[in-house]
Amino acid sequence: MRCGYVQRHIVVFLENQMPPDVAEKIKSHLSWCKHCSDVAKQVEEVRQPVKDSMGVDIEPPPGMVQSVMARIENMDQAAPAPPDRRYAFIAVLAIIVLFLAIFVVPKILKLY
Ligand SMILES: [Zn+2]
Repeated sequence: MRCGYVQRHIVVFLENQMPPDVAEKIKSHLSWCKHCSDVAKQVEEVRQPVKDSMGVDIEPPPGMVQSVMARIENMDQAAPAPPDRRYAFIAVLAIIVLFLAIFVVPKILKLY
């Protein structure tokens, strides 16, 4: 396991949101890697007061951790939004305008 991986996932690990097998690997990495265990300590120091001051455990909504993790995993291959996204947006906009023109505008003008 590499330091980069451990440090990118340290918050998830500290939140106990890691799959047990991965958590075990991170734990063993932290036991011998001073650099990563220092990072873990710093993260813990920042995290704890935030939790304490809020008086509650911060629970991420279900699925959020996984989606963030997936994003982190894909960061290296991050590509700009595919062009069809833009066309989809224009299509949605066109539908909204059409809807307004057909249903809303006549109502406002009291045509019905
Ligand atoms: Zn390390």
